[in-house]
Amino acid sequence: MSLFAGWYADAPLSDHDIEGNLCRCTGYRAIRTATEQLNALPRGEDHFRARLREGLPVLPAAELGGYFSPLSIGEALALKQQHPDAQWIAGATDLGVLLSRGKGTDGRYIALDRIAALQKIERRSSAIEIGAGVTLARMADELIDHLPVLADLIPWFAAKQVRQRATLGGNIGGASPIGDLLPLLLALDADIVLRSLEGERVLAMADYFTGYRQTLRRDDEMIVAVRVPCDTALQTRFYKIAKRQTDDISIVASCFALRLNGEGLVLSARLAFGGVAATPIRLPRVEAALLGKRLSAETVDDIAQQIVASLAPLSDHRASAEYRLALCGNLWRRYVDDLRGMEVSA
Ligand SMILES: Cc1cc2nc3c(=O)[nH]c(=O)nc-3n(C[C@H](O)[C@H](O)[C@H](O)COP(=O)(O)OP(=O)(O)OC[C@H]3O[C@@H](n4cnc5c(N)ncnc54)[C@H](O)[C@@H]3O)c2cc1C
Repeated sequence: MSLFAGWYADAPLSDHDIEGNLCRCTGYRAIRTATEQLNALPRGEDHFRARLREGLPVLPAAELGGYFSPLSIGEALALKQQHPDAQWIAGATDLGVLLSRGKGTDGRYIALDRIAALQKIERRSSAIEIGAGVTLARMADELIDHLPVLADLIPWFAAKQVRQRATLGGNIGGASPIGDLLPLLLALDADIVLRSLEGERVLAMADYFTGYRQTLRRDDEMIVAVRVPCDTALQTRFYKIAKRQTDDISIVASCFALRLNGEGLVLSARLAFGGVAATPIRLPRVEAALLGKRLSAETVDDIAQQIVASLAPLSDHRASAEYRLALCGNLWRRYVDDLRGMEVSA
């Protein structure tokens, strides 16, 4: 199916088209050989290509056995008022895993994936507003020019099949301490736009997470968008460490965003981590300690030590607490090395 989709995407097929297929019987060689053989064939007109040009049919709002599929935010919020126990569901890549294990199958769901207002990307002079329903695949296609740091993250977020469905709102909605977009949005100082029948409110991402999978969002509220300030002077990098490079959950993810002046002094700093606490977190005290400093070897070492001293991660089946701490200090050092590399190449 992945090769089928890649074939009709009209670009040369590569390993990226077949990522996410974890093969435990025939091995990868046969799959890669099939990819190469397909690449050698001409891609002519056929009935699938003709059908793709027709686009998706516009279907009315629908309901099926406690599964609601509205077309507008207003309809979705009204449904939530009528069925307060119903859960929002977007790409279903998180909730679907539960459902496939027989959990939540008797629940009610309000699907958000056909609401056009959640699919918008609006570029303003001061910020870019990304609809909660925008998928990771669209973020890769449409946002990397504005937010180049996404290129550090998206290739390592799940695999292509999941990225076609997984949404920005679903990653925030899950509020997992290892949700990969969350340290990135914290470091970019994003705001979250929430909507309920009472109206809209905007919360700073920095205040949003209150405990393990707990947030300031009320149950009747929907995440409608995220606003990311435009700040081209920020030097932002994201790093994800997992056991496997692709299609794996983070052991630790970190995102660093510094602004330096012409003399190399730190004017602003945001250091954010996932996988090291009950919530994705920023380290405001360490950030404050960086202000006005030059990134000398002593400062970099001192900050690495402060990062390690500020965190108290847990050990679990993925990694020990000690390993996670070592990663956090080392990722900071790696970021500074990368900054120096960027200066040299500029
Ligand atoms: C194989 C696989 C690999 C994965 N790899 C990664 C990875 O590398 N990194 C990573 O971070 N995650 C990963 N995930 C998890 C998941 O794909 C992401 O968290 C994704 O962003 C969830 O988006 P979704 O639209 O599918 O959410 P859904 O599953 O639809 O919903 C997730 C949660 O968010 C809530 N929600 C959804 N939309 C809204 C909204 N607009 N407002 C309020 N609440 C909302 C839902 O009620 C639910 O609680 C992976 C999942 C799978 C199955």
